[in-house]
Amino acid sequence: MPVTRIDFPLDQLTSSQSEEEIQRKLAHERARLASMMGLDSGPVRHFRRPAEKPFTAEERGKVTILFGGLTWKHERVIQAVFQGCGYNCEILPVPNVSAFQLGKEYGNNGQCNPTYFTVGNLVQFLQSLESRGLKKQEIIDNYVFFTAGSCGPCRFGMYESEYRLALQNAGFEGFRVLLFQQNDGVKAASGEAGLKFTVDFGLGMFNALNLGDIMNEMIYRIRPYEAEKGKTDRVFHEAMDALCTMLRDRKPFEDHEDLPEWMAKKIRASKGAKWEIWVNSLLKVREQLYGKPYKEALQAVHDQLGTIEVDRLKVKPVVKIIGEFWAQITEGDGNFHMFEFLEREGAQVLVEPIGTWIMYMIHQVIQKYKDFKGLEEGAVLPPMWKLGTRAKIEFGYRQKVAKLKLAEAIFKGEYHKIVKALGGIAHHLTDQYELQRLGHPFYNSRAGGGEGHLEVAKNIYYSNKDLAHMVLSLKPFGCMPSTQSDGAQSAVVSNYKDMIYLPIETSGEGEINAHSRVQMALGEAKNKAKKEFAECLERSGLTLEGCRAYVDAHPEMKRPMYQVPHTKGVVGSAANFVMHLAERMKAGRN
Ligand code: SF4
Repeated sequence: MPVTRIDFPLDQLTSSQSEEEIQRKLAHERARLASMMGLDSGPVRHFRRPAEKPFTAEERGKVTILFGGLTWKHERVIQAVFQGCGYNCEILPVPNVSAFQLGKEYGNNGQCNPTYFTVGNLVQFLQSLESRGLKKQEIIDNYVFFTAGSCGPCRFGMYESEYRLALQNAGFEGFRVLLFQQNDGVKAASGEAGLKFTVDFGLGMFNALNLGDIMNEMIYRIRPYEAEKGKTDRVFHEAMDALCTMLRDRKPFEDHEDLPEWMAKKIRASKGAKWEIWVNSLLKVREQLYGKPYKEALQAVHDQLGTIEVDRLKVKPVVKIIGEFWAQITEGDGNFHMFEFLEREGAQVLVEPIGTWIMYMIHQVIQKYKDFKGLEEGAVLPPMWKLGTRAKIEFGYRQKVAKLKLAEAIFKGEYHKIVKALGGIAHHLTDQYELQRLGHPFYNSRAGGGEGHLEVAKNIYYSNKDLAHMVLSLKPFGCMPSTQSDGAQSAVVSNYKDMIYLPIETSGEGEINAHSRVQMALGEAKNKAKKEFAECLERSGLTLEGCRAYVDAHPEMKRPMYQVPHTKGVVGSAANFVMHLAERMKAGRN
């Protein structure tokens, strides 16, 4: 296409003359291009998002909310919270390759593969409803889809429109998509109150996400060492049932009903007043987080999980999973069933909690406040002598940061409280400030999109802190931020020579190739784990048989919640266990 060149001597013009000249040339070029494309006739018609039928409160009883895309543990507790708040709710199946292909068929070209998998999965599910005899209009009227949205900067920003496009192309035009916005909190795209974000709903979801994360980590932590094959899955399913029952059936706290009668009576007289709503909300928070049913349910689950017998002397490499948010969470074709494959190959998988990402988002907002302190769009800080304005800016800044720091502390505190209540074997959330410190020299921590600097930082963190023998990064085909991270990871690997790091692109095809690459790296990690175990036996002067005999004589050591301290420089569970046995024997503890 011919391009107009600005070939005039700008340096001979004054600055306002050159600005005018540039604007004139730009207008000329714009007009030329518009005429070439046939866009210069008629009034300009901007795109407007088509109005969507709202999801109203009256429909709650007959409309089913669909959602999915996480692990079965997260999904089950989230479903229980929806149900507890009075919604009909169904979990979508785990996305598979045929969903991916449907996503490609009905969506735009050039999307990243989580878009194809998740969009196609929704279409596939709606088609399955149709094949079960439901009419298209019934499906459109009686189902809505709940998902996360974002304004980017990566293709996450396009998900909402991709869902709408694919639904339209598949003949489900008008199907409603409700969004949970990454940056703005919760919003119903329909703008209506069919899905109402109450204090009970918010707190329930908060608990559900944390419980999902911790139970997910624990199952991967215990199952590789189970003494009786299949018992972990069985017990975890029962435990999840118990947690779901608690989340679904617990009565929400109401001040006018649940406070002692003399107080409740007073409250009833002022029900609906601003102060009463505040007090009720605060008491709801207290009850949700510290209430008796919650504590009792956690204790029951703790005891249930404690019935699984483990053999900690099985030598297994620990593989830390990092990568793109969706690819590192899904448990199906979207990452080639990678966790199942790794366990089958003899590894212990260390999964990533969603909590890290939530903490990352809070941390990034704090960082933004720090960077933009006192600077409105295009402005500069007022001069030093304007003390009043400066003090106002300082106060506003400190107030905003303090609120977020409080949110950070509450989130972390609650997460760790559940970890402790369930036996203290799941990891604590990784400190975001440390991750930023580790990742920033390789990947600018202000660069947003996807996992930002986290992929690089986690690789260094887990390798350096002796928490994993190998780090496996699952990155979807066409993922912009993950591709950037890959570039930075080569610098990381050259700086940390002992690291076993493998990036795998999960393209929806090529499973055999991906598995065989993982097998090769895993072979190296297995050798590392075996060598480490042998060294620990030698250092401690123990034999495997001696260790087994001691554990047989002390059956409490076969319980999954038994606390084995981490020995510096030792990664594997079996190796750490040997070091602990040596300590325990030396101390002469029975
Ligand atoms: S992080 Fe990557 S895979 Fe995920 S939505 Fe963004 S571009 Fe797509």
